[in-house]
Amino acid sequence: MIPSSPPSLPFPEFEPGWVWLAGAGPGDPGLLTLHAWHALRHADVIVYDALVGPDILGMAREGCRLEFAGKRGGKPSPKQPDISNRLVQLARDGLRVLRLKGGDPFVFGRGGEEALTLVEHHIPFRVIPGITAGIGGLAYAGIPVTHRDTNHAVTFMTGHSASGLVPDTIDWAAVARGSQVIVLYMALKHLRTIAGNFISAGRPADQAVAIVTNATLPNQHVLETTLERCADDVAANGIEPPALVVVGDVVLLRPALDWIGAMSHRAGD
Ligand code: SAH
Repeated sequence: MIPSSPPSLPFPEFEPGWVWLAGAGPGDPGLLTLHAWHALRHADVIVYDALVGPDILGMAREGCRLEFAGKRGGKPSPKQPDISNRLVQLARDGLRVLRLKGGDPFVFGRGGEEALTLVEHHIPFRVIPGITAGIGGLAYAGIPVTHRDTNHAVTFMTGHSASGLVPDTIDWAAVARGSQVIVLYMALKHLRTIAGNFISAGRPADQAVAIVTNATLPNQHVLETTLERCADDVAANGIEPPALVVVGDVVLLRPALDWIGAMSHRAGD
């Protein structure tokens, strides 16, 4: 018989006073790892970000406390040191603390910063990687991040620095020339500047771009566009975060590989 719940692997014991820093994947609860699932079932408190959806939080053990630590309704988000210190405090209270973040905690997720605070305060911790949106989210849009005929390299970038501006530590021209496929997180706000930077650095204006919103969720939306048109198309279509922007010829594989689109056509046959 096929078991209806995850197998009883020799899961590590979630001990009181520990913080587990886990990724929840891009959205679809089926993309949680078994370690993340085990953590949800054993945590005393979950400190979660805005990108962790209700279906995933609904898997938490009964009686587990849920603490929100993201941006809500235009209100400023809690300051990063406040979140890190909160984790320290909860662990010192002797709780099993699950810090749950969208995607992977170490990919544009500030997981490293929080882990460093735990180290500083001698709080024991475990890291549970997750499927990052820039890979798993694009897979749900039918876009492989590498493909032998198109690219042998891929660059993951953020379009937003800690100051909220276009990151100025990036050599845009070097990335434009050197990376065949570029996957951008948090890039909607400054998309016009970013696309302009790539074109100025020699990237073809008609290069394919896809913008994937709410990737892996039922309301996933994919816009296929080009570098020169993408900012206008985002505005014209009212595209809102969370969104990934992917630049490069892998986008051209989507018409063949859009397996979600194929499923819905089949359902409509
Ligand atoms: N740690 C996360 C990234 C956090 S930064 C990870 O590894 O995926 C937040 C950004 O991630 C969003 O602004 C968006 O660019 C991207 N993102 C996360 N989830 C997404 C989703 N379901 N659909 C589209 N973009 C997503």
